[in-house]
Amino acid sequence: METRTEISSLGEFGLIKRINEGVSTQLPDTVKGIGDDAAVIDNGEDFGLLSSDFFLEGVHFDLTFFPLKHLGYKVIAAAVSDIAAMNGIPRQVIVNVALSNRFSVEAVDELYLGIKTACRDFNVDLTGGDTASSRTGLLISVSVLGRVKKDRIAYRNTAKPNDLLCVSGDLGGAYLGLQLLEREKQVFLVNPQMQPELDGKDYVIQRQLRPEARMDVVYELEEAGVIPTAMIDVSDGLASDLLHLCAQSGVGAVIFEDRLPIDDQSFLAASELNIGAITAALNGGEDYELLFTVSQSDYEKIRNNPKITFIGYMTDNKEEVVLHTKSDNRVPVTAQGWSNV
Ligand code: ADP
Ligand code: MG
Repeated sequence: METRTEISSLGEFGLIKRINEGVSTQLPDTVKGIGDDAAVIDNGEDFGLLSSDFFLEGVHFDLTFFPLKHLGYKVIAAAVSDIAAMNGIPRQVIVNVALSNRFSVEAVDELYLGIKTACRDFNVDLTGGDTASSRTGLLISVSVLGRVKKDRIAYRNTAKPNDLLCVSGDLGGAYLGLQLLEREKQVFLVNPQMQPELDGKDYVIQRQLRPEARMDVVYELEEAGVIPTAMIDVSDGLASDLLHLCAQSGVGAVIFEDRLPIDDQSFLAASELNIGAITAALNGGEDYELLFTVSQSDYEKIRNNPKITFIGYMTDNKEEVVLHTKSDNRVPVTAQGWSNV
């Protein structure tokens, strides 16, 4: 009998690993294939960067509370974030959309208003795409091309023991914003007269609906004369993305609970939702912050940058990626990640 293996038994990362089996790059200008935030291509003078992302209705977004304009902005920001994660500059995007007949021309205008606004904000050109009909709602895929000076590129697999671990911005907000929106949706479904109770929650809602790619941090690192020894963007959650960075670099890490940057609104939302703020910071996704390592000698150059928090350090024990808690315990960092392909 033929065997059938459920995709859920592998999970997203197991599946990518399996796809990658037996794939070897054959062209001399393919510097890096599968495995980082973007593929790296030798353009001669500099490196080209190439990355692609999917956004599917019902899987990645829920249009009952996600305005199309914001969705358009978010898909570009998320794509740009993968270029930022290579310490690169985004240049061109290609956007594919598939639409069911549920969508009007005006709805498509709204989506593209967001896409065009993001292209302007991130200084990228929308250079093409494909348009198709769909039977299952809205599907969007964004590919982005970027570039980076060869001596500035930051891979995932080059962190060194004793490097300092840094993260930009704050963590957990996007996940908590989503939980608030989901909660309001349930209330609304029960009683459509209800007004949403989202006062004072603008920051976390915005983190979910209108995230920014941290190009500002990429530029500020350059101005400070710092090249991260390794970098990844936090799209799946700090825990999951830190584990990628460590596994690929062959190092361990210690992160400090009391150093995790969490906004006041995130603490409030977490307590209202009965979710641990630390859990949200560790496992909530979609913050699109940059997680990177720097050598200790670069500490002085960025320690006063308010956008950057030092959350821990890398070790030579690759078996141990641990959270040093406020009560001085060390607990293993584990990824919740997603597994519902
Ligand atoms: P990110 O979260 O930064 O977008 P992913 O976790 O989606 O990265 O992907 C990790 C790596 O696996 C990337 O190098 C990506 O290009 C590659 N990858 C993901 N899906 C596929 C696929 N279907 N075929 C080939 N490579 C893939
Ligand atoms: Mg990424």
